[in-house]
Amino acid sequence: MNRKVYADNAATTAVSPEVLEAMLPFYKEVYGNPSSLYSLGQEAKKPLEEARETVAQCLGAQPREIYFTSCGTESDNWAIKGAAYAMRRKGKTHIVTSAFEHHAVLHTCQALEKEGFTVTYLPVHENGIVRPEELEAALTENTGLVTIMYANNEIGTIQPIPEIGAICKRHGVLFHTDAVQAAGQVPIDVQEQNIDLLSLSGHKLHAPKGVGALYIRSGVVIQNLLDGGAQERGKRGGTENVASIVGLATALKRACATMEERRVKLTAMRDKLIDGLSKIERCRLNGDREHRLPGNVSFCFQGVEGESLLLMLDLKGISASSGSACTSGSLDPSHVLLAIGLPHEVAHGSLRLSFGDENTMEDIDYILETVPPIIERLRSISPLWDAIQNGKVNYDAYM
Ligand SMILES: *Cc1c(COP(=O)(O)O)cnc(C)c1O
Repeated sequence: MNRKVYADNAATTAVSPEVLEAMLPFYKEVYGNPSSLYSLGQEAKKPLEEARETVAQCLGAQPREIYFTSCGTESDNWAIKGAAYAMRRKGKTHIVTSAFEHHAVLHTCQALEKEGFTVTYLPVHENGIVRPEELEAALTENTGLVTIMYANNEIGTIQPIPEIGAICKRHGVLFHTDAVQAAGQVPIDVQEQNIDLLSLSGHKLHAPKGVGALYIRSGVVIQNLLDGGAQERGKRGGTENVASIVGLATALKRACATMEERRVKLTAMRDKLIDGLSKIERCRLNGDREHRLPGNVSFCFQGVEGESLLLMLDLKGISASSGSACTSGSLDPSHVLLAIGLPHEVAHGSLRLSFGDENTMEDIDYILETVPPIIERLRSISPLWDAIQNGKVNYDAYM
């Protein structure tokens, strides 16, 4: 029997037993609608407001600044479209973002371009990090919103969020950050870091799929995305998903309380894996080695096809992911790997391994035993690897 190693926690995580436990009463007994006046409804209202307090505490925010949503994608859409429509009323139509945001941000910005907004996509350079001075230089009189992710979902790089927050504050521009990957992994303080809008998602931190949150700084007015009932103080209609919201709060609280010990454990695992994989000939670590999420490892192996690598790892019980958009049936390499300057051929050989609460050092050992022979085998049947060996093509610059 093969070992099973789930190494795709950046895609989604298992719901932790503690989170599930906290959620169950809201399906079985306390199933009332929190907007109902009878006691079954009011019994659901209290945990909802406690969850709001918990999430606020983890971010250094006030409870009234937290709004629950259906997912990270909704939070990103609401923050960016809501801020864009509000700023247009003040005559501002320019947005600054980066080239390697999650599609929930990039495609939202592209949709706004079709409506007449202009968007600057900042480069992220070879190390996968936005330069604050370039961001500042991109701001104009017309800029109303900056949206830069806290940590990248593919290559794990952590952005200089406090510096960006300070620049935005100085220029009177709203600052949104997609913190879906960062929440619970790195310390976040929306006050200290001058963040006006921040997106979260439950399923990246051992809570269920289909629940998210948006922090909106008090005093910041953005347009509604969903119109409906008076839920979420009239800003986000839709009956609250109490069970999942309680799950999100439970998971975030636990992640924040155990952040340091998990950081130490995950960093040791990550660094051992990076050191081990670096021994493979003609490979590269994607993204800055220091400024990266504790649980993220991203490599490119020259002369290897990412999809084939994933399939062979799956046969060995390892769930991982590749930067290329193989699930969509598209052969386009990841926009993130292209944004850090990799040619298509190199970007195609990418592998992302991302770790969470259930992973152990034995998982790392197993991955280190399994990956090198698979790469050797794939290279032995690769025409591109042949061409690299014969010097017909050269990717020395990308190692
Ligand atoms: C997963 C993810 C999202 C989307 O969150 P969903 O809850 O799946 O909609 C947005 N941004 C980043 C950085 C992510 O990793």
